[in-house]
Amino acid sequence: MAQEIKLTDLLPQVVGAISALKDSYGNFEVHSSQQADMAKVQGVLLELTDRLENNFPYFHPNYAGQMLKPPHPVAIAAYLATMMINPNNHSIDGGPATTMMEREVLRDMANMFGYPEQFLGHLTWSGTTANLEALWIGREIHPGKGIAHSKDSHYTHSRMSEVLNIESIGIQTDEFGRMDLNHLETELAKGQIGTVVATLGTTGLGAIDPLADIIPLARRYGARVHVDTAYGGFFKLIENHLDADGARHFAAIAQSDSVVVDPHKHGLQPYGCGAVFFSDITIGRFYKHDSPYTYFASDDLHFGEIQLECSRAGASAAALWATLKVFPLTEDGLGKVLLAGRNAALNWHSLLEKSDVLSPYQKPELDIIAYLPNASSMSQLDHMSHELFLRAADGDRKDQIHLATYVVKPEALRARGFKLNEDAQQARIMRSVLMKPEQEHWVGNLHTHLEALTKQLIGEN
Ligand SMILES: *Cc1c(COP(=O)(O)O)cnc(C)c1O
Repeated sequence: MAQEIKLTDLLPQVVGAISALKDSYGNFEVHSSQQADMAKVQGVLLELTDRLENNFPYFHPNYAGQMLKPPHPVAIAAYLATMMINPNNHSIDGGPATTMMEREVLRDMANMFGYPEQFLGHLTWSGTTANLEALWIGREIHPGKGIAHSKDSHYTHSRMSEVLNIESIGIQTDEFGRMDLNHLETELAKGQIGTVVATLGTTGLGAIDPLADIIPLARRYGARVHVDTAYGGFFKLIENHLDADGARHFAAIAQSDSVVVDPHKHGLQPYGCGAVFFSDITIGRFYKHDSPYTYFASDDLHFGEIQLECSRAGASAAALWATLKVFPLTEDGLGKVLLAGRNAALNWHSLLEKSDVLSPYQKPELDIIAYLPNASSMSQLDHMSHELFLRAADGDRKDQIHLATYVVKPEALRARGFKLNEDAQQARIMRSVLMKPEQEHWVGNLHTHLEALTKQLIGEN
């Protein structure tokens, strides 16, 4: 029977089991250099938990700001248990059990994306490294050519292009924040693009680049297609609940050359868990290296042979493995968590459409919603957004609502039908990532509170 899972109920089981495992190898005395005064340790930990008060309540549905939430207790328990042994998935000798677990979760995620049975992939510490690897392989295959990504793509693409010493070309976006195909074709026709990056779920607005149309276009000009779904990848599980176009683009991931997803964003994991997949295993040749001090126990492929990073937490693979056993990559498993967030965004969007004082910026494609207080000028909009951000977070802990702001340009507002006096080059609007499933039925509270604050602000003008 399903019930709330509390971390404190899980810890005795795993800590007990791993302690017993350690004891079974025979007791030994911990070296005096590692001993410490218990009262001091407790004092330090007390200071730690005190200092951790200086945070925003990422775990609470009233935190509706950035892309932040704690991992599931199952992931924490599995991570902690594994960390007590601390395997390193760099090599099979460093972590035999967790290497196998990593292979299992990789297969599950590759299946989710519709990748071939034979794929190359691995977990990473982050979406940044995962993307870097895909861009690097793109450069090796098309030396001297650049990468194209939308102007709303994550800044990591232009930054990593600098690291890789390749040109990065920013493609215009349309009024939904999606890559503009005409501009992309113009740039492809110049013959200088080796890899096109399509983002399914932009970090800012959750927009979906038209991947199903990008793929044939890029192929016509001989370019690779890399899909950055660091944030949006697990929405694949509920693609049938997205707009028809969104579903079509998620389905097209199967045809891409590489794809990235961050289990530490929508996969209920602690930070330190990204993943990259390549549909053609022969790219493995670019990773070739010789190391005299690893790889002894097995002829089987070590993750260290097909990744840029060296040491990597086996605990991270174990945490994801355990989580996906409980919440499998199906619509009924992890999909339920994503669907609730998606519904939260739709629910709030319909409230915003009916509001006299707030307006939606655009219709959400995933679970990110952008909205703004009604204002007559850019400068007033900026001021009001900032005030809303501050005032919502004010007061007693139980009354606080934590939001985020998002900077927009006059032309972006114009494209979405807003008519404001353009007395400033940019303005902040509001942005909320609704990634906690509890928010599905919580957004009404958030909306009511924000409407009241907005009316109060309007009254002061
Ligand atoms: C978060 C994100 C990244 C960067 O990933 P990190 O895990 O933060 O390093 C890249 N691309 C997109 C679309 C993202 O949302």
